[in-house]
Amino acid sequence: MTPVLYLVIPCYNEEQVLPLTSGKFKSKLDELAEAGKISGESRVMFVNDGSKDSTWDILSSLCDEDPRYCAISLSRNRGHQNALIAGLMEAKEHADITISMDCDGQDDINAIGQMVDEYAKGNEIVFGVRNDRSTDTWFKRTTAQSYYKFLKGMGVDIIPDHADYRLMSSRVLDALEGYGEVNLFLRGIIPQLGFKQSVVYYSRAEREAGTTHYPLSKMASLAIDGVTSFSVRPLRMITLLGLLVAFLSFVGIIYVLVSVFTGYYVDGWASTTCIICFVSGIQMISLGVIGEYVGKIYLETKHRPRYIVSERLNIPEK
Ligand code: UDP
Ligand code: MG
Repeated sequence: MTPVLYLVIPCYNEEQVLPLTSGKFKSKLDELAEAGKISGESRVMFVNDGSKDSTWDILSSLCDEDPRYCAISLSRNRGHQNALIAGLMEAKEHADITISMDCDGQDDINAIGQMVDEYAKGNEIVFGVRNDRSTDTWFKRTTAQSYYKFLKGMGVDIIPDHADYRLMSSRVLDALEGYGEVNLFLRGIIPQLGFKQSVVYYSRAEREAGTTHYPLSKMASLAIDGVTSFSVRPLRMITLLGLLVAFLSFVGIIYVLVSVFTGYYVDGWASTTCIICFVSGIQMISLGVIGEYVGKIYLETKHRPRYIVSERLNIPEK
């Protein structure tokens, strides 16, 4: 039996992009259905992440035009990762497989066919991995590469150059449902789920219109989430740093005692001040790192919902 595929596409203020890309998603589904690779019940599912522009109006008219489009709307902007999980959880009730992708045309739609082929071979998770970073700025390329190295050093297992373009089966999504964390970093969780996994390479295009919603500040906070949601190694490093500073102080004390007993006069207010500044700096940083984790515990213990779906269009009956 051919699988029902849902493309899950989060959209936030994408009025400029949607008229250019929405038709391409649908044509791709038609092409794959005609080739007998997916079922005719397959759909393009948009998730409106609390957009403030006319995105929802555009999505509503698409849904009116064609039942192969469906959409849900979140009650307010919850961010890319939450919009994705909202769409995936909605889609898994109707689909055998889902593919999550950006709505701006950056994720090459021609990789969809290859992903479906990989699924047919028995893979339940297929990661879309970029085969080059030439469309990125020098800054984004360098920071991304250093970040992957840093994550590896912290013991976090993620797939380099893979963002959120991936295929997952409904069985995988059932497993993902059990991960109730509010600090969501999907590209860290999904490799951990297990199941049979494979990779499809694609070249990432430029955005067709509009601008990115990931400015430096959001990228930095996603990067911090990536570390603190998956590794406690920074906490251990603080302990090691504490031990190192304690050891150095111990050596310092012995030096002072020896100086006093040998009658050597020590003036040194400057060195004392330097040491106080250095140690209090380290303490501040350490408190900050611990605070990151405490903050996360605080958010997790409240068990608040990650998103609220306020509207649904063309979602089939179960
Ligand atoms: N997005 C979202 N909610 C947000 C920010 C972004 O749903 O708060 C969507 C956005 O519409 C796009 C995808 O997430 O489909 C990726 O965002 P973007 O293309 O701006 O990021 P980039 O590709 O530049 O990293
Ligand atoms: Mg994009």
